[in-house]
Amino acid sequence: MSDSYPASEAEISARAKALESLLVEKGLIGTDAIDKAAGAYESDIGPMVGAKVVARAWSDPGFKEQLLEDASAACARLDVGGMQGEHMVAVENSEQVHNVVVCTLCSCYPWPVLGLPPNWYKYPQYRSRTVMEPRKVLKEEFGLDVDESVDIRVWDSSAEIRYLVLPERPEGTEGMSEEELASLVTRDSMIGVGKPRTPEG
Ligand code: FE
Repeated sequence: MSDSYPASEAEISARAKALESLLVEKGLIGTDAIDKAAGAYESDIGPMVGAKVVARAWSDPGFKEQLLEDASAACARLDVGGMQGEHMVAVENSEQVHNVVVCTLCSCYPWPVLGLPPNWYKYPQYRSRTVMEPRKVLKEEFGLDVDESVDIRVWDSSAEIRYLVLPERPEGTEGMSEEELASLVTRDSMIGVGKPRTPEG
């Protein structure tokens, strides 16, 4: 799914600028606060944090167990948490089950581990079609072919619960360090619309 549909990036950027000017003009927020928040979501908070969590789960069975039991508590052990991630739930992919996350109502998303959601996550088409025909959406929109023998489970995020997919550890990654493993974990694999990279690329 294209990242620029239905609004173009220029339109979204103009809208954000207008909103920012208004907030600053009304004295509700300073430009430094805006820069700080935007900077945090650009460099410190994003899918690279979730990738670390996944890599730890792949390497440490005890951590994985806790992650699947109480994802927010497990993430807190890695100093990961905060706004929009108070109640995170991790769902594990396997040979039998593929999980995919959506928010049918709006765009609820686990910010502390994935950052801000991609534009397509908010599109009505993704939100409605993923629930009705997930296999088709994964194939047609994301090029992800999930075998008929694999069950697809769709998780509807809400203001209270934010889901994170724990993808399957790729083959041929035995002996890789956590850091190397984290480099294989993509944002899309943690939403369930993609797979992690393989060591071959
Ligand atoms: Fe939502």
